Amino acid sequence: MEATKHRIGVDLGGTDIKAGLVSSEGDVSCRVVVPTDVETGPPKVVAARIAEAVRQVLVKAETINIYGTSGVDATHPSSSRSVKASGSEDEVFEIGVGLGSPGLIIAETGVVHFSPNFPGWTDIPLVAYVNTELSKLHNAKDGAARKINKQYKPVLRGMDNDVNAMTLGELYHGAGVGYESLVALTLGTGVGGGVVIDGEVYHGSLNTAGELGHTVVEPNGRYCGCGNQGCLEAYAGAKNIVERIQEKIAAGRSTTLAAATNAETPLTPRMIAEAAQTGDELAIEIFAETGRYIGIALTSIAHILNPQIAIIGGGIAEAGEKLLFEPIRAELSKRAMDIPAQMKIVKAHLGNDAGIVGAAMLALEGFFK
Ligand SMILES: [Zn+2]
Repeated sequence: MEATKHRIGVDLGGTDIKAGLVSSEGDVSCRVVVPTDVETGPPKVVAARIAEAVRQVLVKAETINIYGTSGVDATHPSSSRSVKASGSEDEVFEIGVGLGSPGLIIAETGVVHFSPNFPGWTDIPLVAYVNTELSKLHNAKDGAARKINKQYKPVLRGMDNDVNAMTLGELYHGAGVGYESLVALTLGTGVGGGVVIDGEVYHGSLNTAGELGHTVVEPNGRYCGCGNQGCLEAYAGAKNIVERIQEKIAAGRSTTLAAATNAETPLTPRMIAEAAQTGDELAIEIFAETGRYIGIALTSIAHILNPQIAIIGGGIAEAGEKLLFEPIRAELSKRAMDIPAQMKIVKAHLGNDAGIVGAAMLALEGFFK
């Protein structure tokens, strides 16, 4: 019987570390959230928090007997590389862990070169730090306080940028299943991007490939956090969408949103989307314009890379087909040449689990592949 294999995906954020057990079908269970504690200590403290999240996942997995230690479908996450100690009862199974982290990540060496969420971190060998903490867990003598089943040895197999991880998640278990070349855009506070060529995430010569949010869509346009002018992010990032509508309200445009917002209830993209759905003309216009800018960026991307599909996720993508995706597709078909214009544009499938599923896919490179 084919064994169900599990990996652990860890999504490292500036505030929280989210982790969960991911099956080979991409189903997530045993979700945990652990505070990152970035303010209380150096990177090694964060590494210990990541190990703690992994520990909590393993404890939960044990409780619900996820590995099927009884019954017909005995599904140890075993492999030919499992490490055998003395006798079969002491057999140790390695469980692959993958980590998605914000910032510029050197995936090859497991180093965080820089991360906006972790001020002061420069060239931190985070994978090595985390594996030190994970082996402490496994080797702990007294086990009482941080008990895990010694049969399972968690090992961090891979780390990448969080958006690259999400892109992998969509490739293996989301909207990208069945495709080999794709781009992913995440529309959140910022606009992240990931590129998959021939089934592999493309990192570029110095690990900075995929910054699709900094595609210039307006040469003399709005200033971007990166220092450039007219980047897609300066139009389609959450804060920027809100700023654009506020500027129009200040210039005298009428909208139902003007009365609905004040210092206590600041405007959000969700409120703009809701207003648009009830027919608010300015709100509709803002999303149409956002879609147009995304379509301009995707036109360049389609011409450069000719991917089969562009997958768009993140909170802003929830605005949906009519408000956002139709204007994006209209812009691409207006601007792109026939063949690159065949690129499909779809909403991401994985939603809130994208970070954990994608991170777990980073463990593929090592143990389970
Ligand atoms: Zn920029």
